[in-house]
Amino acid sequence: MTEMLDLIHELWFTKRDIISDGYDRALYRLAQETPMTVHEYPTGEACWTWRVPEKWTCHQAYLETLDGRRLIDYAEHPLHVLSYSLPYVGLVSREELLRHLHVHPHKPEAVPFVFKYYERDWGLCTSQNVRDSLKDQAYQVVIRTSFENGTLKVGEIVVPGESDECFVLAAHLCHPAMVNDDLTGVVVGLEVMHTLQSSAPRRYTYRFLILPETIGSVAYLSHHEELIPKMVGGLFLEMLGNDSPHALQGSFQPHSQPDRCLGSALSAIDPLSFQSAYRTIIDNDERQFNAPGVRVPMLSLSRVEAPKSSGLPPYPQYHSSLDTPVIVSQERLEASRDAVLALLDAWEHNQYVVNNFKGEVFCSGYGIWIDHATNPEGHRRLFEIMERCDGTRTIADIATELSIPFQSAWQVVSLLEEKGLVWLSRAPHPTLPAG
Ligand SMILES: [Zn+2]
Repeated sequence: MTEMLDLIHELWFTKRDIISDGYDRALYRLAQETPMTVHEYPTGEACWTWRVPEKWTCHQAYLETLDGRRLIDYAEHPLHVLSYSLPYVGLVSREELLRHLHVHPHKPEAVPFVFKYYERDWGLCTSQNVRDSLKDQAYQVVIRTSFENGTLKVGEIVVPGESDECFVLAAHLCHPAMVNDDLTGVVVGLEVMHTLQSSAPRRYTYRFLILPETIGSVAYLSHHEELIPKMVGGLFLEMLGNDSPHALQGSFQPHSQPDRCLGSALSAIDPLSFQSAYRTIIDNDERQFNAPGVRVPMLSLSRVEAPKSSGLPPYPQYHSSLDTPVIVSQERLEASRDAVLALLDAWEHNQYVVNNFKGEVFCSGYGIWIDHATNPEGHRRLFEIMERCDGTRTIADIATELSIPFQSAWQVVSLLEEKGLVWLSRAPHPTLPAG
């Protein structure tokens, strides 16, 4: 497979508006790396309460002074026009222009990413510096865009497991000329699927969806309702290339097994990582999976620097022309790929721990005694874990209750399993005496 950073360099500048030729080109290029099914949903198609919008193309967009000096040009950067801008050609007063000219709120040199997919208007985007230089009374605006019937496309890669219960990964491919949000999630997800395809068969089926954000998830889910009961959990991948530790956002169901498993496993994978509740780090397509009528516990993994609650952008270059390959690294993409694989490994091994023993175990007899004089912590942990092996708790439940990494609980449970003291079950198996 092409290196993740090379794919990013190849694709980042494409005009990947939600339904556009640029998006399609990028998706078919990715399909050359890993064969995928491409689902198509035509313009106007009902998707629950939504409808698929038109395909949008910008042919030309610029701003000129009345003597023909070009100040802003879409040909130089795809962000210079509002995504899904209405066409507009005419002379406008400075005042009128400023109402349609978008700038970045914090970075004077950056061109912002602004979109109006559904409440339409015409608009151009530029830097605060260029905006400040506009002193003439009137300007020439040319925006030649077209709206036509097209199809929204969702790429799907499936690695079947022993069970048709599936764990969903997702990332969004839309956003013209940006990298961290969310080409990084796409290339990391692709490599994860590559690894799963070439490794030993797994218990769960893994499904990776590459989509335009929000409407892509709604389109896919509304056309695959039969799959929803099989979706046991999910992880949205985004913003995985910037220089910041991992951030794990919980699902709408904070006590779900995916929340407990991934939540207890991450600290051992990235000790600097942080975690926070649903909708407190960053909002994206996981909302559609967690929503009423769907309720798939989908978490999200990112490298968000400033959580939503801070009021700051998730990373300084977010939604702007500064989100370029310069801010991401191959090393961090690989670390994120490995983190996702390690989280999925924990997920595969998360089972109910059923005791074959009654009472407290005679540890010395089984060769698992840990002397409390020399290792008080290990001694305490062993007993704390053993007393929770009763068929009603998974490894993730035990790790969460004890606030220890999943991997530590898993290691002790593996030892107990090796000694024949416990067995692992996919379903709860309470061992209270019948009475
Ligand atoms: Zn975004």
